[in-house]
Amino acid sequence: MTDKSVRDVIIIGGGPAGYTAALYSARANLNPLAIEGFAWGGQLMITSDVENYPGYPEGVLGPAMMQEFRTQAARFGTEFVSDDVTKIDFSQQPLRVWVGEHEYRATTVIIATGAVARQLGLDSEQKLQGAGVSYCAVCDAAFFKDKNVVVVGGGDSAMEEAVFLAKFADKVTVVHRREAFRASPIMVDRARANEKIEFVLDSLVEEIRDTDAGRVSSVVIRNVKTGEASELPADGVFVAIGHDPSTELFKGQIEMDDAGYILTKGKSTETNVTGVFAAGDVQDHVYRQAVTAAGSGCQAALDAERFLAAQEAGAPEEPLVEDGVLATPTNW
Ligand code: NAP
Repeated sequence: MTDKSVRDVIIIGGGPAGYTAALYSARANLNPLAIEGFAWGGQLMITSDVENYPGYPEGVLGPAMMQEFRTQAARFGTEFVSDDVTKIDFSQQPLRVWVGEHEYRATTVIIATGAVARQLGLDSEQKLQGAGVSYCAVCDAAFFKDKNVVVVGGGDSAMEEAVFLAKFADKVTVVHRREAFRASPIMVDRARANEKIEFVLDSLVEEIRDTDAGRVSSVVIRNVKTGEASELPADGVFVAIGHDPSTELFKGQIEMDDAGYILTKGKSTETNVTGVFAAGDVQDHVYRQAVTAAGSGCQAALDAERFLAAQEAGAPEEPLVEDGVLATPTNW
């Protein structure tokens, strides 16, 4: 089925960036369509307490917060499709987006498909997400004051998370599958210099065990050289084995860096394709916070609105960005 009408804006993705972009563009009377994905909500759906999002002094559960973001975007008229985009064609205007056989068209598209933290792939890991298994030390370290935690990974993220966790935890054990580190030497040295941090190398986490109350109690690790298994007591497990941006759909149509993150111009959310903007973790592998993703979603909606306003006024399409700053101011 083809909907021949051309919308002002389609938002792809249903996390903090996507819903904030929807909220702002709905309030700008752009009648956004948010194709939020079948599993909408993003990474916050596997988070329990969120205590670092401003405006929630008592904290909030990740899924509840995403429901509130969605409800707020709906209040101003966002339309939702709770399914996954299956194909796009950004080669010409109007921009085209498919969900199965259904084609949607728009003058602007905001990509907010996020990134996913790599998982170990254990059943026990999945079961204990939000019950001691975390993918974000900045978010959850404070819950592990004076506790015993395990960090899995040997890259810069694992070293950074271990050092951050050591500010709270009593003991941090980094479990890495090899002897050599992928992390830069300076990051490894920093972790090694911290007396709260220990290393268990050449070892894989095979299972995460829990208490009767369903919280993490230990990890079972196996030394890959000796084959020997052992159990490490732990109150928390921080999996820091990297992230993957959700950009498979856009390969070949949008410029990305080597890791697959979408490239944006200067301080804007503009991509290399006219009318296509990117917001949140899909273009940010540095900050990766709900609040920075939401801020970026707001920027993308403003950028899209300015682009549409400039088009309506007959302004030339290029350049939207001059010296990293948007050229066409409007009254927001
Ligand atoms: P990364 O560099 O890809 O490292 C991932 C680590 O996890 C590797 O040590 C890898 O082991 C291990 N790993 C992957 N899959 C695993 C599995 N299934 N089981 C056990 N271990 C597994 O990812 P990252 O540390 O998130 O860093 C990503 C990028 O961000 C890098 O360019 C990094 O330099 C940058 N970064 C920089 C900073 C900083 O400078 N402050 C902080 C964070 C990240 P192998 O080594 O055996 O493959």
